[in-house]
Amino acid sequence: MIHPDTTLAALGDPLGIALVATQPMPKGTVVWAQDELDRVLPAAQVERLPALFGQLRIRFAYRDTQGDYRLPWDDTRFMNHSCEPNCVVTAFGFEIAVRDIAAREPLTNDYASLHLEDDERIECACGAPRCRGSVTSRDFAPLSHEWYASVRDALSHAASVPQPLRPLLAAGAWDAALAYYDVMRRSDG
Ligand SMILES: [Zn+2]
Repeated sequence: MIHPDTTLAALGDPLGIALVATQPMPKGTVVWAQDELDRVLPAAQVERLPALFGQLRIRFAYRDTQGDYRLPWDDTRFMNHSCEPNCVVTAFGFEIAVRDIAAREPLTNDYASLHLEDDERIECACGAPRCRGSVTSRDFAPLSHEWYASVRDALSHAASVPQPLRPLLAAGAWDAALAYYDVMRRSDG
């Protein structure tokens, strides 16, 4: 479920329809949490879908750490990619703001963090100063430690900011995430 202080906005080219904040969201805010209405589609099932579904899959679903596809039921599907995202998805069923997000600012994540298939390549004109021009699965390895460090930093703020999605997190997910990203951050370099 996406954070309640969000809405869809038409921002024109190149962003199109974007998911934007309606209120400021401080760093450390959980912006999305997995919930029981999200559909989990095994990769084998997705591969059997008619070609007509191809672009829908790439645009609206994402792959989890198990390789399954997850299709969010709500406006989460409209979160755009940025090569300098303000949100990062974690391995614990939630996504977190890694810097302060202003009202009307689009919520973004890096699609390379969503376990793209090897042959997937998304052209990018996100406008970020560090825009890579394209997004592929090969971006994951060189960027992952940067994401880990930003999540660990954001988690250190999480207990002191409003968290309307906190009831959706699994028991212990918070502490497990803190411990995991502390280790991953310290293994950097
Ligand atoms: Zn870009």
